[in-house]
Amino acid sequence: MREHAQRLTGLGTTIFAEMSALAARTGSVNLGQGFPDTDGPDSLLEDAIAAIRAGANQYAPGRGVPTLRQAIVDHQKRFYGLEYDPDTEVLVTTGATEAIAAALLAYVEPGDEVIALEPYYDSYAAGIAMAGGHRVPVTLRAPDYRLDLDELRAAVTPRTKVLLINSPHNPTGSVLTDPELRGIAGLAIEHDLVVITDEVYEHLIYDELQHHPLASYDGMADRTVSISSAGKTFSVTGWKIGWITGSPSVVTAVNTAKQFLTFTSGAPFQPAVANALALGNEYFDALRADLQARRDLLCDGLESLGFEVHRPQGTYFVTTDVRPLGYTDGIDFCRMLPDRAGVVAIPHQVFYDNTESGRPLVRWAFCKQPHILQEALTRLTQL
Ligand SMILES: *Cc1c(COP(=O)(O)O)cnc(C)c1O
Repeated sequence: MREHAQRLTGLGTTIFAEMSALAARTGSVNLGQGFPDTDGPDSLLEDAIAAIRAGANQYAPGRGVPTLRQAIVDHQKRFYGLEYDPDTEVLVTTGATEAIAAALLAYVEPGDEVIALEPYYDSYAAGIAMAGGHRVPVTLRAPDYRLDLDELRAAVTPRTKVLLINSPHNPTGSVLTDPELRGIAGLAIEHDLVVITDEVYEHLIYDELQHHPLASYDGMADRTVSISSAGKTFSVTGWKIGWITGSPSVVTAVNTAKQFLTFTSGAPFQPAVANALALGNEYFDALRADLQARRDLLCDGLESLGFEVHRPQGTYFVTTDVRPLGYTDGIDFCRMLPDRAGVVAIPHQVFYDNTESGRPLVRWAFCKQPHILQEALTRLTQL
């Protein structure tokens, strides 16, 4: 057997593969992976079908079709008052995942340190490793997962090159506050850092909280790679249409890497997403209200079963501490759960370097139909 390159060591297969296989074998309700079990708006689906019929089946332009780049610009202006040039300050990517990888490849030299908030979204560790970087965690701690700005400051060294931020944050569901974002911006400016900010849950924020893009803070425009995606906003995670916005130099740097990863993708999906970004506020309000109701259904149910529930401010996920039910380790709990109760969840631990911080924590996805969530709760009474 030939050995793979050193940089892949430790990446293994994702926890989602193990848990989804367990779900299939046991016929479990799968609240592991974060994808909705209903499709996005009909108009979006019809627009993609129409685009295929109309012949949008060859390579799209490398930076994305002009109508989508314009729609992204209009969206940033409409929701956040941010101004971008569609020709030089927008890049369409193969989901947020490619945008994250390309941004890391664009800015990280071998040996550079990348500070990321842990628990991490699962592609961050791999993206940093493939760019040759060294990951430095700053831990968001239960039960409210606030960012400790002193800890962030202490993590910066002369080798720090990039801050990798995610808000709303997967898996904890925390949304960075204005003072936290101000603190991040101040540090980035003081130490001349690039900030890659993953904002794929920008429209999935509950309880009337607001999303503040990091790029809107003074001094951040020329050092921020802002990333979002259609997957979560329009419930089409399989389409893999993402994008970055940033200054012309940022977009050029990221595109230099991106053009040799995929060059381009999703030609018929791109014009459909352009139309969806222009949907009225009622679409975005209904999406939020609907997911908030599902959050509350699952959180209230888990609470009444005896879990300590950390109700999220955003995203698709709720975190529980399993210790009140007599368990100490989330991995053991999640491996036992399918056979015992017919439900799959994901242990937080696998998203940490400091595994102790995540040991008793388990993540449950609530982006599923209410009757599925109800079924999971009924099954969990067997615990
Ligand atoms: C789902 C998700 C992504 C990936 O988005 P794609 O557009 O599917 O590539 C990136 N970051 C976070 C935090 C996510 O939850």
